Amino acid sequence: MRLLIMGAPGAGKGTQATALAEHYGVPAISTGDIFRFNIKNETSLGLKVKAIIDAGEYVPDDVTEEIVAARLEEPDCEPGFLLDGFPRTMHQVHFLDRYLSERGQGLDAVVSLHVDPEALVQRLLKRAELEGRADDNADTIRRRMEVYAGQTAPLLFHYENKGSLVDVDGTGTVDEVRERMFAAVDAHVAS
Ligand code: UDP
Ligand code: MG
Repeated sequence: MRLLIMGAPGAGKGTQATALAEHYGVPAISTGDIFRFNIKNETSLGLKVKAIIDAGEYVPDDVTEEIVAARLEEPDCEPGFLLDGFPRTMHQVHFLDRYLSERGQGLDAVVSLHVDPEALVQRLLKRAELEGRADDNADTIRRRMEVYAGQTAPLLFHYENKGSLVDVDGTGTVDEVRERMFAAVDAHVAS
């Protein structure tokens, strides 16, 4: 099973990605988590991307694509994968399309989690208190929303045109959204 999960910052991608990946027995791969791990450990990658992420901008495509390609070669991706937070740009979409088609593979579903913009900001500000992420402050949140709307939201059309998109309402409790998402994805892959 090869899956993507997409949605604005704060839509609940990380939380629901973990559940969905477990449901299908594939690893959940979050490029954001990979970057944060590298920042925390002060690796050369971490040092390169810290200022970009703190500003709410995107890490350059070539850097991100190289990381994803290497991660997808790991043996645990043999049965498939769930990518959380990648692709984020049209360049990355084309990279992933090419990567998969060269291997005779494709995506089974692209989950799009929808949450209204006001609720998103509230969730991110709450997460800031709980987790202390450097990019969860009012200014950076605003910038991340703009970058998402400009660069990432349009990618949904690409997947909709391919017939891969599964729209899921991301409002409600974590359990409600999870069950709604499982039902929608199960129905999509069965059809
Ligand atoms: N980021 C990026 N490319 C990625 C993943 C993350 O540039 O493939 C950066 C970007 O600055 C983003 C931040 O890392 O705002 C946090 O990403 P994450 O996916 O964890 O946050 P979310 O959008 O889920 O709130
Ligand atoms: Mg995330």
